[in-house]
Amino acid sequence: MPAGRHFLQIPGPSNVPDRILRAMDYPTMDHRGPAFAEVGRKALEGMKRIFRTEARVVIYPSSGTGAWEAALVNTLSPGDTVLMYETGHFAMLWQKLAGKLGLNPVFIEGDWRSGADAGAIEARLREDRSHEIKAVCVVHNETSTGSVTDVAAVRRAMDAANHPALLMVDTISSLASIDYRHDDWGVDVTVSGSQKGLMLPPGLSFNAVSDKAMRASENAGLKRSYWSWAEMAGPNDTGYFPYTPATNLLYGLNAAIDMLEEEGLEAVFARHRRHGAAARAAVAAWGLEVLCKVPSDRSPVLTAVLMPEGHSADRFRAVTLRNYDMSLGNGLSKVADRVFRIGHLGDFNDLMLIGTLAGVEMGLRDACVPCRAGGVQAAMTVLGEKFAQDRAAA
Ligand SMILES: *Cc1c(COP(=O)(O)O)cnc(C)c1O
Repeated sequence: MPAGRHFLQIPGPSNVPDRILRAMDYPTMDHRGPAFAEVGRKALEGMKRIFRTEARVVIYPSSGTGAWEAALVNTLSPGDTVLMYETGHFAMLWQKLAGKLGLNPVFIEGDWRSGADAGAIEARLREDRSHEIKAVCVVHNETSTGSVTDVAAVRRAMDAANHPALLMVDTISSLASIDYRHDDWGVDVTVSGSQKGLMLPPGLSFNAVSDKAMRASENAGLKRSYWSWAEMAGPNDTGYFPYTPATNLLYGLNAAIDMLEEEGLEAVFARHRRHGAAARAAVAAWGLEVLCKVPSDRSPVLTAVLMPEGHSADRFRAVTLRNYDMSLGNGLSKVADRVFRIGHLGDFNDLMLIGTLAGVEMGLRDACVPCRAGGVQAAMTVLGEKFAQDRAAA
């Protein structure tokens, strides 16, 4: 093992803070005993505040993919049409999953270089006069490309088209890192996971469920058992689960909720925006290109960087791992070996970002990738602006 701490700078799983590790390092308790109800209730109530919803939150012992499936099987019937938007690899996986479940996913194609276009969604919905489309599914933060979709704009597009479809949003890599409002944005099912902005290890996933989605579940024809919201609802009302929950991950979740609320969600979002801006300044100084072409869509959670033509992103990542013990995210499917991704989410601060960017800059040099130095300096300048502003304001 190399000395010092490994830099886990993939865009999830993210670094787990010691406080959360300590919170999980505690005997597993009887999940049907009297002490558990407090743990369960705290997690279920706390996650409502993180999703910014008054509606029901469901917690599964699964990776995020399970919560994708849960969103669909609880609300839809075989053959139902769902409108999905190809923002990148994760949107594509969700679309494939929908197809395997016997749904009819209609995909609006995208170039993987922006968030979903609400205008294109509106146009499709306007054409759908007989309301064949039962759900619109978008990925809030497309982790394969570093592009954010304006979910409020998608909601407005659906309202403008006067379309009754359910709105489902994947926030697996955005929740607790990027501003998200389940209720205000009229989302019907929000899908999320534990191992990104929530700073936990992998293993928990979530659905936040609007009343409209809950009503849809009463008549939904797809088969479900393990994922059934109805099975969860009764036990959850008193802090319990219908089957064994991931007890120790729930201890960790409660610590994560405390940490997020102590810092304040707005401050957490601002911290991520600042780190995103600083990372992009580094990329610009290197003379490289960020994959997301639309400036307002660029992610505060990760930065996907295009390699210069003829250079392998995977080779660069291997060199960086070997020389600096830092893991960077790979390019997925369509952009395999063409991009690398810098994760700057979760339990993260200015020096961790600067260390990360220094590792990238040295790795680019070691791998003989044609680019300029000075990215770390550019990032430090962006990070310093906050303190200059604070001084000016004082
Ligand atoms: C990580 C991720 C997933 C997949 O989640 P798993 O926990 O690996 O099942 C899906 N969507 C997005 C946007 C993600 O970032």
